[in-house]
Amino acid sequence: MTQTDYSWHSKAWDQFVAAYSQNHLPHALLLTGSQGVGKLAFSQRLITSLLCLNPDIKTKQACGQCQACKTYESGANPDFMNIQLLDDKQQIGVDQIRRLSEFLTYSRSFNAYRVVLIHPVERMNQNAANSLLKSLEEPANNTVIILTATHLSKVMPTIKSRSQLLNLPLPSRQQAIDWIKQKKPDFKNIEELLEMSHGSPLLAIQTSNDVLEKRNELAKDILNIVEKNNSVIEIAKKWEKFDLEMLLDWQIIWLQQFLKKINAPNSSFSQAHSKTLQNLEQIIVKEQLWVLYQQLIIKKKTIHTSVNPLMNIENMLTLWLQASPL
Ligand SMILES: [Zn+2]
Repeated sequence: MTQTDYSWHSKAWDQFVAAYSQNHLPHALLLTGSQGVGKLAFSQRLITSLLCLNPDIKTKQACGQCQACKTYESGANPDFMNIQLLDDKQQIGVDQIRRLSEFLTYSRSFNAYRVVLIHPVERMNQNAANSLLKSLEEPANNTVIILTATHLSKVMPTIKSRSQLLNLPLPSRQQAIDWIKQKKPDFKNIEELLEMSHGSPLLAIQTSNDVLEKRNELAKDILNIVEKNNSVIEIAKKWEKFDLEMLLDWQIIWLQQFLKKINAPNSSFSQAHSKTLQNLEQIIVKEQLWVLYQQLIIKKKTIHTSVNPLMNIENMLTLWLQASPL
């Protein structure tokens, strides 16, 4: 996959090219966007462009041929530092950021930029974030620190205010479908998988059709509860071992789509539903859709405070029963 493959990145790339061409690159670039939008791929493209000794004059695309490009390719470019979560850690620690401060005192080996990637910035612990602030307050010359964040609200305001924000939007539905068809010509159920992945084609191609089958099974089971073919207890037992958060996510997406359909009946997402989901949608009292949606969201937020998984699932399924008129 080449780095220019993501058509929905082009606007953000143009912004970067404009800044680069005018010598207005920020010292810290905070790259934001939903999960699965391709922040890391975009960062790689930025990194290679900045390190390259001979980037394309117009597009600023790295040449791939110069010494800086070649050393980067082999993982040994001395002007690049990569700070990510270590395998066994939940957070980016202060030691990692201290090494960064040291790195910034070295002189550059090649004559382009020095680049640091911190991914994802919201996983830095407090000490690490404080330590990073120092580097952001006294920026080194010809150095760009790239920070990535999925949840901007979790990034310290002081870091935000010292960085320039660059947002990567999700692709349009058509862009996403075209992209998947190009990458995976044999891929099935594109629309449903895309819907499950909150519109991210990158996540969609990672989601297998087995998951899709399971999801449809849950829809059937809920329909059976609502139609009184099965009891809540019977069905709850069946799903007890499943990840509750994932189950809730599926249902929340259904509700979002049901609600969207009421507000915009001709929206392109309306056709993606299976027959089971269409039946389920019809059986729920329209006025209850919003209530049910809210209840499922609250359930997802409080998931970790509850101890009994079976009871949790029973409660979840009962919400559907309460929203149906039968
Ligand atoms: Zn190059």
